[in-house]
Formats: sequence, C-alpha cells, structure tokens
Amino acid sequence: MSDTSPVIEIRNLHKSYGDLEVLKGVDITAHRGDVVSMIGSSGSGKSTLLRCANLLEDSQQGDILFKGEPLRWKGEGLHRRPADPKQVLRIRTNLSMVFQQFNLWAHMTILQNVMEAPVTVLGRDRAEVEGAARKYLTKVGIGDKCDAYPAQLSGGQQQRAAIARALCMEPEALLFDEPTSALDPELEQEVVKVIKDLAREGRTMIIVTHDMKMAHDVSSHVVFLHQGRIEEEGTPDVLFGAPKSERLQGFLKSTT
Ligand code: ADP
Ligand code: MG
Repeated sequence: MSDTSPVIEIRNLHKSYGDLEVLKGVDITAHRGDVVSMIGSSGSGKSTLLRCANLLEDSQQGDILFKGEPLRWKGEGLHRRPADPKQVLRIRTNLSMVFQQFNLWAHMTILQNVMEAPVTVLGRDRAEVEGAARKYLTKVGIGDKCDAYPAQLSGGQQQRAAIARALCMEPEALLFDEPTSALDPELEQEVVKVIKDLAREGRTMIIVTHDMKMAHDVSSHVVFLHQGRIEEEGTPDVLFGAPKSERLQGFLKSTT
C-alpha cells in the first residue's frame, strides 16, 4: 500500500444476477484526481459496476482494491462475500454515491440530511459536522436551504443537496450514477456546474452519465461499456473525437 496506489481499482470483475452475467471481466482504475466517466447503452452494466465498487452488490470473481488494499473475500463464486464488515464500511464510506433519484430523506430537513451519516455512521462530533454541512451546502449554492425539506426544493437543488451530503462524508472519491438524468434540461446545468467545480478542485470521481458534453469536458478518462465489457476506453478527446469501434460510433450517433 502506498500513496501512489489508485484510490479505487477494479480488476477483472464478474457479476451475475442468477443466470444473467451482467459484468464479464471489467477493469477500472481511478487514481487521485482522476475523473473517470462511464458511458454506454441502458442495460450495459454501468450502475451494477458502480454498485459493486461501492460494495452495495456482491460480485463473483475479480478484485476490488481501495488505496492498494485488496478487499478480502470469503467463499467462492455465487457464495463469495466480503470477509470483513469493518473493511466494507471503511471502503463504502470513502466512496460516496450520488444517485439519479437523489434519495434524500423526506422527513428530514436538508441540513439534517447532510449531517445524518457523518454523525450516526462515522460518529463524528455533531457541532463540527454541522459546520461542515453548512459549508458544503453553501459550496453547492443552497446554503439558504438548510431548514427546508426536500419536497420544497427543485430537482436540481435536491441533487445538489445530495452532492453536499456525499461531500460531508469527506470521502476519498465520489461515485455518480446518472446524476442529471432525472432533471429538466435547465436544472441539469446547475448540477453539471457543481460537478465541473469538483473536477477542477481535483476530486476523484467515477461518473456514469448520458451527458456526453459533460463527460467530454470533465473527464480524464472515458470508458464505453457494452454488454458488460469495456468495448473501448481512452481520453475524452480520442474517445469522442476518433472512436474506433463501430459500436461506440453507433452509440455516439444515437446520443446526438
Ligand atoms: P445500466 O446502468 O448500464 O443501464 P444496469 O447495471 O442497471 O445497466 O443493468 C445491467 C443488467 O443487469 C440489465 O440487464 C439489468 O436488467 C440487469 N439487472 C440490474 N439489476 C438487477 C437486479 N437487481 N436483478 C436482476 N437483474 C438486474
Ligand atoms: Mg444505470
């Protein structure tokens, strides 16, 4: 383990739901400061890959390393499970997820939503967490919404609250699953701006997105997933400017 180890490294990951093999040997690496975007048709396995990385889903084969530390497993194949709950918690809390549907708690204020996990899961000091939560809500442009409830916010504001909540965990990396897909086009840009700011600050991120312009603008590396395999990957300029595979060419045409 060393400081030069990737924040997250996935090697040869295989994942099935019953007889359906959804991931067929996928490799993804994100070093500190990398922004890796994942693109691909619906059903290609993008969400599954993020959920496996975050250990919300089990996988049957392959390795997941966090800062050079391999996740330890027990059992094999369909019986394979993470061996150490403490390690799972450490990895999961360091890879904060932002979901398409925001997943804010409706009965809590925005401030309570952002404070909840750092206080209850990580056991951090409440007053310190409150200061950090207000700072992150201000950073994403909704510092005035602390006492509002999610239903009182627009979709773009709710998603920015969800990003503040992820940041308040002080994670090593952020994982985004189609963060702008549920938003009207004019609200989408508020969220894109926040993600661009985070990229500029050097945040490590893996972003599943249908927004090719954002993927082009923020990414250090882009991965095109097709039916559970990486069909093509590279820098955004090469992947979007000179795609080699016909499938990627077809996919990019279908998105414009
Ligand atoms: P994407 O995010 O790229 O649209 P997903 O990772 O959601 O793709 O899904 C990949 C494949 O796995 C799809 O065929 C989907 O139907 C299947 N799948 C996803 N989640 C489940 C699940 N919980 N149970 C069974 N099949 C699933
Ligand atoms: Mg998905």
